[in-house]
Amino acid sequence: MTGTILIIEDEEKIARLLELELGYEGYRTGRAGSGSEGLDKYREGGWDLILLDVMLPGFSGIEVLRRIRSADSLTPVILLTAKDSVEDKVSGLDLGASDYVTKPFQIEELLARIRSALRASAAAGSGREGSAQPEESLTAGSLRLNEQTREVFRGERRIELTPREFDLLVFLLRNQRQVLSREQMIREVWGYDYAGDTNVVDVYIRYVRKKIDEEGLPELIHTVRGVGYVLKESP
Ligand code: CA
Repeated sequence: MTGTILIIEDEEKIARLLELELGYEGYRTGRAGSGSEGLDKYREGGWDLILLDVMLPGFSGIEVLRRIRSADSLTPVILLTAKDSVEDKVSGLDLGASDYVTKPFQIEELLARIRSALRASAAAGSGREGSAQPEESLTAGSLRLNEQTREVFRGERRIELTPREFDLLVFLLRNQRQVLSREQMIREVWGYDYAGDTNVVDVYIRYVRKKIDEEGLPELIHTVRGVGYVLKESP
């Protein structure tokens, strides 16, 4: 069985070994050395499986997994975890990881897990054939966002968002009519280990507003003084 595998791993030696071994087995591979690069590569699409190291610089593998699963419940993800981190394994599996392999791993074991995850995913895929996935859209007034295609429209106008702006808008739409604090948004959109200033939220809210606002149409993102922001149709 072959396929395309995205390797998200910051340790050069391990990443190269994986690339080499998977290449021998006939898999095509791509590689990313951090969580954000991994997400970017993932979003380019076309992956049959993702190998995801948990200990990554920037945001962790668990956070990467959470973001992948927020839009995609199907692509198998195998976590590479440290031997003693039970917590990572549990939260990884809770978040929908297909499997995990403990470092240091035997390549034969990893290859077996990969084959098994790909088989399971192919079996699930054949069961789905014919029943097209429903289009999942999040809407507020004339704003429409499709998480699968990553398209955003205000009325008929197509809106281009950066990945971060998109994630922020998804979070606001999913929690519309709820007042969200800057801290909540940092945690959910930027990730638990984000160490910067919460002012970044105000900056991004400004960007998103500018893009989604339309003359003559009601504003959707409202400032709640001293608290944060809320997305709703009417003020
Ligand atoms: Ca690592």
